Amino acid sequence: MLRCDFCGAESDRVIRVVLDRDYDRLTVRHVKMYACPECSAKKDRERKEREKEKKKK
Ligand SMILES: [Zn+2]
Repeated sequence: MLRCDFCGAESDRVIRVVLDRDYDRLTVRHVKMYACPECSAKKDRERKEREKEKKKK
């Protein structure tokens, strides 16, 4: 069983996500974390929102 790094839920279907440096400049450049399918989808949406915001500027 692996634990989701975002919500703490235990799941055997976690998805490995690599956060790029644009994700959070305060942390290490490439951070590997595990996300359950729900959190993974949420992170994906957040990333898309951020990309939209960048394009506006
Ligand atoms: Zn989760």
